[in-house]
Amino acid sequence: MIHVTVWNEYRHELSDEQVRQVYPNGIHEQLKFFLQEDFTVKTATLDEHEHGLSEDVLNETDVLIWWGHIAHSEVQDSIVDRVHKRVLEGMGLIVLHSAHMSKIFMKLMGTSCDLKWREANEKCRIWNVNPSHPIVEGIGEYIELEQEEMYGEHFDIPAPDELIFINWYQGGEVFRGGCTYRRGNGKIFYFQPGHETYPSYYHPKVQHVIKNAIKWCSPTENTYPTYGNAQPLEKLEEEKL
Ligand code: ZN
Repeated sequence: MIHVTVWNEYRHELSDEQVRQVYPNGIHEQLKFFLQEDFTVKTATLDEHEHGLSEDVLNETDVLIWWGHIAHSEVQDSIVDRVHKRVLEGMGLIVLHSAHMSKIFMKLMGTSCDLKWREANEKCRIWNVNPSHPIVEGIGEYIELEQEEMYGEHFDIPAPDELIFINWYQGGEVFRGGCTYRRGNGKIFYFQPGHETYPSYYHPKVQHVIKNAIKWCSPTENTYPTYGNAQPLEKLEEEKL
């Protein structure tokens, strides 16, 4: 069983009635609700001790999901370093929507991760541009969301290892809305949907993509190599030692 931890800053839902109507128990609880059909799921939020991300929690986490927006700067650098170390060791990371500006994503990318945005109730069509990839299994040609926040190019990220989705918005912009990266032994997936006032995490195909991504970026038996001084596998001549 894959162990998933869903991390949410959990601030909009407490302060904004419009957001609370969409996610009454928080975005993390909605993510947990559908993910627990297939995985062992914990949640963690910003205001918990160590943001809910103790060494023990992270060591038991195969895949961490991150949603943040207005409080990126409140995430302690020591916790970001802890998550970063776990990703390099092999923990999978799924970065959702406005977490493009989270400290952990920016640290892993090494760029500003900035983009264009607009909240205008626009239709969004998320095109599958990598049909053989496991993340899009069962998704079809595209996902259509009646409303999503526009995120537009240029998105200041390193060239993705694999481009999975290109989003189109009614206003005319396009966006690399699904991207994979490898950092160290860890696999990372960025996925655009999930603005806090729209019901994107209730959409069956959005849910399906996140489930596929968890399976794709969870560690395998080969994820944890041995580093450091090594004994030779063959007998070496004395002068080579
Ligand atoms: Zn948003």
